[in-house]
Amino acid sequence: VLYRPPSLIAGVGCSRGAGAAEILALVDDALRAGGLARTSIAALASIDVKAGEPGLVEAADDLGVPLRTFSAAQLAQIEVPNPSAVVQAVVGTPSVAEAAALLAAGSGAELVVVKQRSAMATAAIARVAVRGRLALVSLGPGDDALLPPLARAALARAEVVVGYEPYVGSIRHLLRPGARIETYALGEEVDRCRSAAAHAAAGASVALVSSGDIGIYAMASPALEEGGLDNVDLDIVPGITAANAAAALTGSPLGHDHCAISLTDLLTPWDVIRGRIAAAAAADFVVTLYNPRSRARDWQLDEARAILLEHRPPETPVALVSDAYRPAQRVAIDTLAGFDAEAVTMTTTVIVGSSQTRVVDGRMVTPRGYVLAGTAA
Ligand code: SAH
Repeated sequence: VLYRPPSLIAGVGCSRGAGAAEILALVDDALRAGGLARTSIAALASIDVKAGEPGLVEAADDLGVPLRTFSAAQLAQIEVPNPSAVVQAVVGTPSVAEAAALLAAGSGAELVVVKQRSAMATAAIARVAVRGRLALVSLGPGDDALLPPLARAALARAEVVVGYEPYVGSIRHLLRPGARIETYALGEEVDRCRSAAAHAAAGASVALVSSGDIGIYAMASPALEEGGLDNVDLDIVPGITAANAAAALTGSPLGHDHCAISLTDLLTPWDVIRGRIAAAAAADFVVTLYNPRSRARDWQLDEARAILLEHRPPETPVALVSDAYRPAQRVAIDTLAGFDAEAVTMTTTVIVGSSQTRVVDGRMVTPRGYVLAGTAA
């Protein structure tokens, strides 16, 4: 099988009355000079005063491609290897064939065959720049059943998959055969993003993956922060974040205004985090705590609890969900004063209720505020 991508633009200049046969023969000569295939031509390009030139229109028809034209002013902006003072004097731009080919081929295009000429025409060939693709793919909490079709499609398309080892392991069976897998350890987030961006810039189809939602305490921000993705098709696939997963497993704790706070002080000073907890507590938000505790960070959760207790009663409901939608899943509803911080790990999400949050039939509910018919006052 020979695949001919529609990656070439033939720029053509011609005198009035140039025939289609001459133009096509010249384009074929140019293709031959570059070792290129006619079926890869995606469009003919020229100057707009030639938009209705019969030979040119017929040549495009024959090739089955559109004829795209540009003004002299647009063409004059393009730097070309073979400008001509004669052409400049006649049509107002020093190049038609080379400039139109480059302009139609878009940013990053390369002139692969310089201007060739016949009696009444000129032709040059430009190649459209390879555009890589970077998909920022959310994997959800852990169960395949919570991986949306958009994420599956992005994974199936990826030639290169970049991510944290255990997450990549969990989606290996969804990758296409031969996909290149690059795994990184925790702490190598910036390297992960740079590598994914570099592969995409070189033309590969890349998936950078994160658990939960990739935009929430994850890789989307460092990947986008660096910039430099202008020549890459970017695709961001949303997912189910830990707060959603933990909420679904415990009832409806996020039914009214809520916020998320990460307790890790590795990238944010603790003073800032403490200030946010106090503000959220005072504003009576339901608060979802991400990164609540790890072996090395074992005191922040108790301090957060103490701040929240300054604004909320001790019996405020708290959801503790570990490894949501994974084999090791643990779900508990407890109280703000009473929950056991020791049972909280790196894979736990803690949801602290607001002053309105209640436990109904063993489920944590933050009311919307409706007056329910038949409810006793
Ligand atoms: N991007 C992820 C969050 C990364 S921060 C997301 O959107 O879910 C890591 C924190 O997320 C963990 O410390 C834990 O608090 C929470 N978390 C991630 N996956 C979880 C799961 N399956 N169960 C419970 N909490 C989880």
